[in-house]
Amino acid sequence: EIYRKNKVYEINREAALFYYKNLLDKKNGGLNYLLKRGLEIQTIKKFGLGYAHEDWEQLNKYLLCKGYNQNEIFMAGLVSEQKNKNGYYDRFRNRVMFPIINTTGKVIAFGGRVLGDFQPKYLNSPETPAFNKGNNLFGLNFAKNEVTQKHQIIVVEGYMDVISLYQNGIKNVTASLGTALTKNQANLLKRYAGEVVIAYDTDTAGQAATLRGLDVLREVGCKVRVLRLSQGKDPDEFVMKKGKVAFLEEVDNALSLIDYKIMLLKKENDLATTEGSVKFVKSITKILKGLTSPVEMDAYIKKIALESRISIEAIKSEIYGNNKYDR
Ligand code: ATP
Ligand code: MN
Ligand code: MN
Ligand code: MN
Repeated sequence: EIYRKNKVYEINREAALFYYKNLLDKKNGGLNYLLKRGLEIQTIKKFGLGYAHEDWEQLNKYLLCKGYNQNEIFMAGLVSEQKNKNGYYDRFRNRVMFPIINTTGKVIAFGGRVLGDFQPKYLNSPETPAFNKGNNLFGLNFAKNEVTQKHQIIVVEGYMDVISLYQNGIKNVTASLGTALTKNQANLLKRYAGEVVIAYDTDTAGQAATLRGLDVLREVGCKVRVLRLSQGKDPDEFVMKKGKVAFLEEVDNALSLIDYKIMLLKKENDLATTEGSVKFVKSITKILKGLTSPVEMDAYIKKIALESRISIEAIKSEIYGNNKYDR
């Protein structure tokens, strides 16, 4: 198994170099696409971005020439088998390529993006002996030094979010590869950072992924806050338009787990009505029960009393259960 893993690393590295050289060939259009999106050559090099040609077997032929056999190339997930089993064709075609590199510097997989508005927008390597999607994060290899210094990591959804932030000087950033954060990814984050800041897309999918991510991170015992972009659909768009300082301001303003949930519950319930404020207080006290710090508890109880116009005494009874109104 270790042999197979190492073989995939080796083939992937070879493929990454091939894709990179293809990118620099200007007639392919990949480089132009990335430049148009605001990336600098230096950034493209740093992340080892590449281009997969529209040809159906360019990479396969190249790797065979290099001495790898067909089974190995297939095992690395770089080619797919033809339906009639008569041969193999390149998995990635006419896409800009993002190598996924683990914390020991091995190319474990790729993501590829189409150059226009075609579907699927992104295509990733399949699971291989070297790649399990839920166990890895994109960009952690580039972020880890900065992260251990800052004790903080920003988790975004996509490749371009990581790369744009990095280019704009925000280097403690990694992507969960579009999936909801898994427990293994959360544990990986915890190993490097004292605090995780979730900065997902502003659409409903991003919001849903934020809620799930929060729960997973809390489960493994991570300190976590939520950044809600005031503008733009994702961190890439925001930082390219507004710059580093504006993004760091958003990081500063990121809400604690409880403040984030209070904010959501305020949107769900109309606090002008009795019914709304009762529901609001009942939901939020369930969350407050998990607090261990008396100081935090006191601060939140006062805040909620103010917002709901329900007495501090009643909220405390709801939390601590010595409910005199029950009698
Ligand atoms: P771009 O800015 O290039 O349009 P994005 O990163 O903003 O891309 P999203 O649609 O927000 O794209 O998706 C976020 C991330 O989810 C992607 O970067 C990719 O890792 C993953 N993803 C998106 N679509 C797919 C897909 N069809 N298959 C696999 N992964 C995907
Ligand atoms: Mn999205
Ligand atoms: Mn985007
Ligand atoms: Mn996005």
